[in-house]
Amino acid sequence: MRRVIRDEQEMLALGGALAQACRNAAVIYLRGELGAGKTTLVRGFMRGMGYGAPVKSPTYTLIEPYELGARRIYHLDLYRVREAGELAHLGIRDLYDDDAIMLVEWPERGGRFLPPADVTLDIDYASDGRHVILESFTAAGNAILQRLSAL
Ligand code: ADP
Ligand code: MG
Repeated sequence: MRRVIRDEQEMLALGGALAQACRNAAVIYLRGELGAGKTTLVRGFMRGMGYGAPVKSPTYTLIEPYELGARRIYHLDLYRVREAGELAHLGIRDLYDDDAIMLVEWPERGGRFLPPADVTLDIDYASDGRHVILESFTAAGNAILQRLSAL
């Protein structure tokens, strides 16, 4: 699935739509250069989940956990990870269970310490804003993109 995202508002809206489409646990990888709009999409996602407070980028903490009722959401930003082994002590794969949604910026730096993605987003700079390619890799991921395309 491809989307043209012309400005920040549209990226927030895509994040909100993705939140609506996520009914169950999911691992979502967000790839793209610095400033592509990964954190902006997560802001829209959290808003879509009903989270009202500001969403900070976990650049230094690596993980920002959220609890919304029974649902847990983990926002990871692995930009500062130089070597995947730095993540060994974080037990990231153990955070993941039936109720958890994981949104991961710079997943390419997480290596085997990350659970595999249900959905990936690749965000590219373009003259008309950003081009986003969404792909699914599991049955759960297929269901998410199907619901998203119906919104
Ligand atoms: P990343 O997390 O990928 O490094 P951020 O979401 O923190 O990027 O920042 C994206 C920046 O680009 C924001 O300042 C946002 O306002 C700006 N921006 C401009 N055009 C767009 C667009 N089409 N989609 C998303 N962000 C955009
Ligand atoms: Mg970011």
